[in-house]
Amino acid sequence: MSGQGEEKLLGDFVKGRFLFLEDFCQRNGLDVAGTNRAVQAEALRLAEDPARQAFFRDQVFNGPVLATTLYPEWVDRILLQALSNILKGPGAPLHTTSSKVSCIPFEAGRFNARRQAASVFRPFFQGKTPENWLTHGFFMVLRRCYGDGFAGKGKVVEVGPNHYQVHIDNDGVPQASRMECSTGVGYIYEGLLLTGAKDPLVTHTQCRSESPGPDRVCIYDVTWK
Ligand SMILES: [Zn+2]
Repeated sequence: MSGQGEEKLLGDFVKGRFLFLEDFCQRNGLDVAGTNRAVQAEALRLAEDPARQAFFRDQVFNGPVLATTLYPEWVDRILLQALSNILKGPGAPLHTTSSKVSCIPFEAGRFNARRQAASVFRPFFQGKTPENWLTHGFFMVLRRCYGDGFAGKGKVVEVGPNHYQVHIDNDGVPQASRMECSTGVGYIYEGLLLTGAKDPLVTHTQCRSESPGPDRVCIYDVTWK
């Protein structure tokens, strides 16, 4: 990590969407190249605007997707929706408020936690207990992806043994959406599993990601055995 300084790694999530697609195809016996083409065509259809379509073609599908690249907020939103439409069908749910109910954004969040725990964010996961990961490691990930200002406004409240509430303040975060929150449910769920939690349950009890403000705090209730 040395030498990377304060660089944010938000682009790593976008990179992770394509690796998720590849992994999903391999696990479900789908043709990777053909499915990838279908997702790209669906993203272009959803993008509608010619400038956005050109951006997808030049900077996302054909340009290098770097961990440190900062993408406009609509890129991940359109990608997640395109993935869901192609992998699960157009009517598939795009959000979930519980780790008991899956959807593509939730699975994409889980996948990124597994992948990042073994690569870019390994130090934030390795050797951590679930408590330690939730209260420190997870916030280190938020710091590296969204910056100190964003992570600094979040907090974890201890409710009881193996029971916490994670508060995330979306103030000033244009990409916040119920879909991104669903990737968060998946990320926290998988992060807990990776650090040894048994039967974790993540419930997104309060979602204000799409509220106009000023209060845009999202709350995740987290338990395990
Ligand atoms: Zn939310």
